[in-house]
Amino acid sequence: GRSVHQIQSGQVIVDLCSVAKELVENCLDAGATSIEVRFKNNGLDSIEVQDNGAGISPADYDTIALKHYTSKLSTYDDLTSLQTFGFRGEALSSLCALSKFHIITAQAADGAKGTKLEFEVSGKLKGTSVVAAKQGTTVVVETLFNNLPVRRKELEKSIKREYNKVLHLLNAYACISTGVKLSVSNQVPKGKKTIAFSTNHNPNTKENIANVYGTKTLLALIPLNLKFEMEASTRPGATQSAEDACSREIRIVGHISRPVVGEGRQTPDRQMFFVNSRPCNMPQLAKAFNEVYKSYNVTQSPFIFADLKLDTNAYDVNVSPDKRTILLHDQTALLESLKTALGDLFAMHDQ
Ligand code: ADP
Ligand code: MG
Repeated sequence: GRSVHQIQSGQVIVDLCSVAKELVENCLDAGATSIEVRFKNNGLDSIEVQDNGAGISPADYDTIALKHYTSKLSTYDDLTSLQTFGFRGEALSSLCALSKFHIITAQAADGAKGTKLEFEVSGKLKGTSVVAAKQGTTVVVETLFNNLPVRRKELEKSIKREYNKVLHLLNAYACISTGVKLSVSNQVPKGKKTIAFSTNHNPNTKENIANVYGTKTLLALIPLNLKFEMEASTRPGATQSAEDACSREIRIVGHISRPVVGEGRQTPDRQMFFVNSRPCNMPQLAKAFNEVYKSYNVTQSPFIFADLKLDTNAYDVNVSPDKRTILLHDQTALLESLKTALGDLFAMHDQ
């Protein structure tokens, strides 16, 4: 039978995207400058994420995959000013329950010697063995949802779409992560291994975009650099003192395509949104951008790379379990100001 743990582990790992997100964020948290994501059979057979980060300390082997274990949060105060992506200790624990899962890890002091960690479904360490490895960590997730037949079936049926979705998410991590080399490949059964894309330790996001979307994409882009001073928050329950402590400035920086009127062309999704450099779902913000493009009769899908810089008190990351959907406290006012500012920017760049 299935354990309670297996059934309840639907919180952070709901699809292929959440696996990739959690594993890549762990690499970034570990200070990796090189991250390789390898899919086999679009992720149906396996997803492997290898990094050259700090590695896992032997003192943590026993606890690393237990529910709610995290090495990242040392004091309660840290919760309000999160520097790391992870802080809940749920991803590895869920993956133990939802897949065939193992880790290979090595720290700087280990030489060319690494340790393979295998776990019980509960997250308890099952055993370790010595293997050859460079400094860093490789997490291997095989046959995702193997013990949840209905979800496995769903994944198999929708795998093409799921794979495209996960590529789009990885595009966003690749574009925002300056100084990092992020490569993604896919090995289909009996086929060749194909490289989806690879960045190259670029110092700026523009070069990352060129690596991911092609240098031609850059020709169509204009810089985005907008600044908004927001009124005091009308968020219900917001106290005066909390408002005082919260900066009201919001900047939106990045790159967007010029509003060129022309032949409609089906392009894959090229819109990425970030809050303080974290890839996020921001449907309302996306809608505001696209409305402005529509008013210019732009028929191609516009390229949007927009990073919102704002005080961590001005938004809520805890809306969705995977922390991807973000709620801004000043949303309505911001969206109106944004549309006006974009109109002005486009008027300047109009052909
Ligand atoms: P969280 O990221 O919230 O701490 P996870 O379940 O994602 O929780 O990871 C649990 C712990 O495993 C982390 O706190 C970290 O100590 C360790 N860990 C996971 N992935 C890596 C990695 N790629 N490199 C180094 N340590 C890692
Ligand atoms: Mg994590």
